[in-house]
Amino acid sequence: MAEHQDRAVQLLTEGILRFQRDVYPARQHEYEYAAQNPQKPHTLLITCADSRIDPEALTQSGPGQIFVTRNIGNMVPPYGEVLGGVSAVIEYAVDALGVQHAVICGHTDCGAMKGMLAQPGALDSMPTVKSWLRNADAAKRAAATVDGGEATLKTVTEQNVILQMQHLRTHPSVAAAIARGALTVSGWVYDIQHGDVRMYEEAEDRFVSVRERAAATPQPVGALA
Ligand SMILES: [Zn+2]
Repeated sequence: MAEHQDRAVQLLTEGILRFQRDVYPARQHEYEYAAQNPQKPHTLLITCADSRIDPEALTQSGPGQIFVTRNIGNMVPPYGEVLGGVSAVIEYAVDALGVQHAVICGHTDCGAMKGMLAQPGALDSMPTVKSWLRNADAAKRAAATVDGGEATLKTVTEQNVILQMQHLRTHPSVAAAIARGALTVSGWVYDIQHGDVRMYEEAEDRFVSVRERAAATPQPVGALA
């Protein structure tokens, strides 16, 4: 046990030293700017705790640009049910930091979604996880309806993103910011294997690949010039 712990600390320490040697010098001005100025992230990103998700790499964001909170299954309890960490993060991000956008980001191969689809009793040894997953109960039911019987992993993952977007909008800070046109909300499913994101198009009630949409609508050359 102790050896494994030592190994983990060693990996982390080596990572910090590599960061100091290879990354920090090239981006020193960014870190100095971040340290000397109040943070002003443009986006609140709520995603799963799954260690394969790297939000900053995926969105190519630097220090101070995205305000990230993570939990099992990228969930947002409806306002008033559980006033815990997620609720506090949302209120702070919207009211104090003034983020302009909020993302619910699910992902492929999500263990939480698999847990929801598992046989009854499969999560009995993890009562806290089992209880937390109740925040997505309605997604499982909706997915079963969409799939015409038994919910699939893909559909339950998508329906969970849509459900958590609805829960997010029950938070007073979010509802107020949306009402005054200061905040928009989007729902994503990150495809870890292919490096793509499918974004929820509410008007069409479907998820659309960022890669495919970009390929279909090429940016005009010099658009940013
Ligand atoms: Zn997950």
